[in-house]
Amino acid sequence: MLPVATVPGDSLPALFLDLDGTLVEIAQQPELVHADPELLLILEDYEERFGSLAVVSGRAIADIDRVLAPLQLPAAGIHGLELRFADRRTKSVAKATLPTVVRERLQAVANRYPGMLLEDKGLSVALHFRAAPAHEPEARAAVDREMDSLGDDFTLQRGKMVLEIRPNGATKGTAVAEFMQCAPYADRLPVYVGDDVTDEDAFDVVNEAGGMSVRVGTDDIATRARWRLDSVSAVRQWIKAIVRQHSRDCA
Ligand SMILES: [Mg+2]
Repeated sequence: MLPVATVPGDSLPALFLDLDGTLVEIAQQPELVHADPELLLILEDYEERFGSLAVVSGRAIADIDRVLAPLQLPAAGIHGLELRFADRRTKSVAKATLPTVVRERLQAVANRYPGMLLEDKGLSVALHFRAAPAHEPEARAAVDREMDSLGDDFTLQRGKMVLEIRPNGATKGTAVAEFMQCAPYADRLPVYVGDDVTDEDAFDVVNEAGGMSVRVGTDDIATRARWRLDSVSAVRQWIKAIVRQHSRDCA
């Protein structure tokens, strides 16, 4: 069992936050998720005071911005394939383009099963079966077929009730490592908070850097995170506690 995360001591964190399942609850229809005012206030407060915060998500940055509107935070989208730094500079690191025919074939599969959804992120495609759990085998078979046809330039990313095909070139871990080289993240304590297998690469990077890796949830799935927070609500309270800890002198 992981120890529950306490607020990191005197070092101001560079705070890297997954979105779904970490800052907002996982929804049956991810395209309908919007941040509530409490979350927006917490993130805005942290960013304005300290700056060193970034959202690291499987969603495209445009979609992260939609969820967190009106905030436009530094972000890594599509598991690190898209980056937007604190100085607003942007970067795309995809090494290959997903063929249209792959999108079309997977769309046809999604159309066949009610509840199955193909999310086209541009650089990648994600087949969601959260609303069609009985058809997980069909979703897996379809994605495996496409992976066989694509060769080595692409990765199959497994998440919670979702299978995603994306070009190689980045992970959430490489994204965190890039942010850590830039102001205002460099020289701060790297902290990564996430709830899913896609977050494990980022846990490795912050562990290596002597930072804090925090997994969200109460299940006992194997993880390389060293700390735990039980829920989305616990994550929010924890960020507020960090802000309080570092604002004592200027409250
Ligand atoms: Mg997540």
